[in-house]
Amino acid sequence: MQLKSIEIIGFKSFADKTLIHFPGGMTGIVGPNGSGKSNIAESIRWVMGEQSAKNLRGSRMPDVIFSGSADRRSLGMASVTLTLDNSDHFIKTPFDTLKLSRKLFRNGDSSYYLNEKQCRLKDITDLFLDTGIGQGSLSIISQGNVEQIFNSKPEDRRSIIENVAGVYKYKQHKTTAQKEIDQTTDNLNRVEDIISELQ
Ligand code: ATP
Repeated sequence: MQLKSIEIIGFKSFADKTLIHFPGGMTGIVGPNGSGKSNIAESIRWVMGEQSAKNLRGSRMPDVIFSGSADRRSLGMASVTLTLDNSDHFIKTPFDTLKLSRKLFRNGDSSYYLNEKQCRLKDITDLFLDTGIGQGSLSIISQGNVEQIFNSKPEDRRSIIENVAGVYKYKQHKTTAQKEIDQTTDNLNRVEDIISELQ
């Protein structure tokens, strides 16, 4: 699996459509302070489903939309599209190429797309579960992240290790199954109540 390119429109400092190619090997992005290097990393985090505006250095999610500059009006929408070469099927899907997109409008309307078809956030997060590259993973280390990991509580550090080790997916399946069992038990209890009332 390889990151091929990213297209950014209206996200943070990228008012104009910007296409960045990653030709393989190692890519370095250099530029003066405040030129938008971290915004590129954040756009990748965002399109993979980041839900916390705080993790993107904002207070509300619409803060990621270009807010204007001295010579430009603000925009009404941010859109990011990530293209991945998945010909080795590292991500468990039949697609050789994966195109993920996320759009957000100022009124809060937001949508996700997988290979140009609208999908749910869950479809995106499920895709990356236990690959080590999904939402909240450590494949993107932001400024201050290392310090935060060292200072985190043991349980939080444990969940990082579980995510990397591939245990997290099974924990999520267990939680879902447990909820279904609880709901079914409630339903059975209700049926038993009705039967005893009828007898
Ligand atoms: P450094 O090297 O100092 O870490 P950087 O190259 O990583 O800097 P970023 O932090 O990515 O730079 O970009 C910061 C710039 O992005 C600031 O100029 C800020 O005003 C701009 N910016 C952030 N959010 C928005 C937004 N919603 N609209 C317009 N500009 C924004």
